[in-house]
Amino acid sequence: MNDSPLALLGGEPAVTAAGPHFAWPPIEDVDRRAVAAQMETAVSIPDRSGVVADLEDALASYLGVRHVVTTCTGTAALHSMYAAAGIGPGDEVIVPALTFHATATPLFHLGAHPVLADVDGRGQLDLVDAGRRITGRTKAVVAVHLWGLPEDMDALVSFADEHGLMLLEDGSHAHGATWSGQCTGTFGAASAFSLNGPKPLSAGEGGFVATDDAELYYRVLLHGQFNKRCRREIPAGHPLSRFAVTGTGLKLRIHPLAAALAHAQLSRLDGYLAGRRAIADRMCAALDDVPGVHAPYVSTSAQPAWYALPLRYEPAELGGLPIQRFLDAVHAEGAVEADPPGSICPLGTHPLFQHPGAVLPGYADYHGPASGELPVAEYVHATMFKLPVWHREDDVRLADAYTAAIAKVAAHAKDLLL
Ligand SMILES: *Cc1c(COP(=O)(O)O)cnc(C)c1O
Repeated sequence: MNDSPLALLGGEPAVTAAGPHFAWPPIEDVDRRAVAAQMETAVSIPDRSGVVADLEDALASYLGVRHVVTTCTGTAALHSMYAAAGIGPGDEVIVPALTFHATATPLFHLGAHPVLADVDGRGQLDLVDAGRRITGRTKAVVAVHLWGLPEDMDALVSFADEHGLMLLEDGSHAHGATWSGQCTGTFGAASAFSLNGPKPLSAGEGGFVATDDAELYYRVLLHGQFNKRCRREIPAGHPLSRFAVTGTGLKLRIHPLAAALAHAQLSRLDGYLAGRRAIADRMCAALDDVPGVHAPYVSTSAQPAWYALPLRYEPAELGGLPIQRFLDAVHAEGAVEADPPGSICPLGTHPLFQHPGAVLPGYADYHGPASGELPVAEYVHATMFKLPVWHREDDVRLADAYTAAIAKVAAHAKDLLL
């Protein structure tokens, strides 16, 4: 294969399968039946019953937490988690600079300040930089298990303890990932997960908050699940129970049809993860001695969920070939789903993080990071691309074709430099 000229220069492509090459979630007859049956049972569930209770119970037992509350989106779950954690006006929350914006944006709706901290070369929160950003108003630090690769939770737990900060988690890429055998999303005071379309566990649209803490759980209910849930789940006589009818005023419930899909998917999650781990290991091994392309570091304590396989591109190893030219050649080889990171980007580049005061009251004095202030987040973002991680044995050939396409372009990089 490597003897053929690059497809970009007129040779035969390495990937010949017709696209799209990756679709998620896998929809099977059990999913169709579960959603169809749900339509006959209830399409609106105002309390913790039916498929909503089934999904929350199954998630709580899967993760090993006491309480799970489902929501309409992951963004809503993050909003409820922060509100329940008591984060309010003027409070600062340390968030990694490189993540999806919704890790941080709900803070703007609580009057709080996201404080962006740099990441390290692996894309994980840099605790030295995070430590420098702590002030008297810092309340919490957020762990984001980007691409399904668990953060170093030993380090994060001791960092949070040492500085007296609440540890919160955004597990949206990392359903079923583990650190030292413990599920991500169970290390902090609470965690929020997305169940959006492409996430490892999908409801199409949805999310949930997980916590062991009863007070946090009651406050999550008050934030977005008013009336019946609050009345039945917050004990009578608890000081918050008198707010049950209205909650704090938002309605963020999951749709029962979405809950039915996620519930059916959850029973297959471990199978998906085992398949992804086998294929990710195979792809990393295939790329091991390909110059210019580096597989991610995975700690021996970590079992990733492999939401994607993030690869670091090192142009110096390929004569300075720019990443865009490299990816153009990879795409011409037919590996069209080898992608730059898209919506995962340094948050400081978003106008909302630079000038929130232009669209949100109370933020006139908030200034996002100056250009160059979070250099590693910018560098990691500018030098990475990601591959889909398939889970079925039938897809091994496609995975092999993708890594072959990358190896081929790397082997022929000098043809692109002329
Ligand atoms: C998808 C995602 C969210 C937001 O979830 P939605 O369900 O799309 O609202 C938040 N954080 C991360 C890291 C995500 O990937």
